Amino acid sequence: MADFTREYWETALSSIVLEGRCFIDGEYRCAKLGRTFARARPMDGQPGAVLARGEVADIDAAVASARRAFESGIWRHKEPGEKKRILLAWADLIRAHAEELALLETIDVGKPVLASLNVDVKLCADGIQYYAEVTDKLYDEIAPTGRQSRVLVRKVPLGVIGAITPWNYPMIIDAWKLGPAIAAGNSVVLKPAEQSSLSAVRLASLAVEAGLPPGVFNVVTGYGEEAGKPLALHMDVDMIAFTGSTEVGRLIMGYAAQSNIKRVALELGGKSPLVVFDDADLDAAASAVAWGCFYNSGETCHASTRLLVQRSVQQVLIEKIEAITRSDITLAHPFEPSAQIGALIDEAHMHKVLGFIADGEEEGARRAFGAERVLAETGGYYVSPGVFVDMTNDMSLARQEIFGPVLATISFDTEEEALRLANDTIYGLAGAVFTRDMDRAHRFSEALHAGTVWINTYDRSSFSTPFGGFKQSGFGRDRSVHAIDKYCDYKTIWQQFG
Ligand code: NAD
Repeated sequence: MADFTREYWETALSSIVLEGRCFIDGEYRCAKLGRTFARARPMDGQPGAVLARGEVADIDAAVASARRAFESGIWRHKEPGEKKRILLAWADLIRAHAEELALLETIDVGKPVLASLNVDVKLCADGIQYYAEVTDKLYDEIAPTGRQSRVLVRKVPLGVIGAITPWNYPMIIDAWKLGPAIAAGNSVVLKPAEQSSLSAVRLASLAVEAGLPPGVFNVVTGYGEEAGKPLALHMDVDMIAFTGSTEVGRLIMGYAAQSNIKRVALELGGKSPLVVFDDADLDAAASAVAWGCFYNSGETCHASTRLLVQRSVQQVLIEKIEAITRSDITLAHPFEPSAQIGALIDEAHMHKVLGFIADGEEEGARRAFGAERVLAETGGYYVSPGVFVDMTNDMSLARQEIFGPVLATISFDTEEEALRLANDTIYGLAGAVFTRDMDRAHRFSEALHAGTVWINTYDRSSFSTPFGGFKQSGFGRDRSVHAIDKYCDYKTIWQQFG
């Protein structure tokens, strides 16, 4: 294995190809109007990729290609074993190109390149492999209708899926959509976030190299309003699988209603509570809070951004969180091997995060440490992990999804109060409880209204567990075999005898 020094990645950067065209019908294509847009690299503000600025005509071409592939049956009618072989080959190619994909991801989004390599690329390949292996294990049903009939209840693919994804974990979230949608036999048009398209385009070319027929997986790069909106309004798209903000999720539902009543699955925002009782293992809790909130610079939908802590242990817990953050969660240039967190996605987002911090202080939240712009001399967009205390749950830092490395701390006295505070949010994506009292852990985890609840841990995940939210965190689940259901519907075929 290579020695992944900063110099190693600088050398790789000088020779990498930043392919920013759309990928439609098995080939790279410029936007029909010939327009492009440019990205600045979050790690240093230098010029990054130049990307095709896809619009209505490009979406139309991609949807037409996806529809042709679907209607021809070239993918959905393949033998399950053959589908599995092709999807496994795709996962292998992703692994074979892991360093290239990791570099593309880091150039786009500014996360440490070793995190891109060891987490994002790895989980993308694992996700495609997971659904490859499901492909030849899907059974249909025969309904219990009596001896005079044989009634098949078939699970059939929907057709053309539009996938719209965000920039925080692009490859992982793309795999969460592509794996089950394609394994089920659908065709996909993916509109990645305008901040993070490079890995999506490369994934599509690798899919074709692995043997996925042209048209089954297309990518249109571009802005949300110009490319995402026409995809969601398209009359020939059967479903939109969306991950992003609650604000845009609301628009997506409207577009579905205004057009062809396409199905919608929404993975949206969060403001997840991590609740620590005074009997908890405080070292374990501090580590979970720090990593749960600050990993990926806080740009994580299920980040543990609200710490609810029993009053008697608040001070000692905050001290432990500060110690772990300073010793373990190294913020550095993404090519540094020591970097655990890197830059925020872009300059505008950095200023938005700093604006939330300023507003919070004005409302009376007290900064315990961090939450400042750092490494400004690099030209990049870095904010240090920080903690606010002396807060109430109605302050903006406790209610808004900041999507930066900022922890809001609220203290409580009783279990009832903790539960009320934990559920007092418009979101319901995730949460956690730390206590040594297993009766309380059980009671609390049942009562916490969230798609995932961890007990004495945070952010553990597996492809075998569904992921998604309640309330305004959306509906529909990614991951696990259940995700396949969302891309299929039941069809009844009734055969009568005698
Ligand atoms: P965003 O909502 O701004 O953008 C998401 C995607 O929607 C992008 O591809 C964007 O181009 C597109 N888009 C924007 N406007 C559109 C429109 N009018 N029509 C169609 N498409 C449009 O979100 P973001 O800033 O990229 O990502 C951060 C958000 O994503 C956060 O709220 C975060 O919580 C959420 N998120 C949720 C999950 C989850 O699984 N629940 C995972 C990751 C991120």
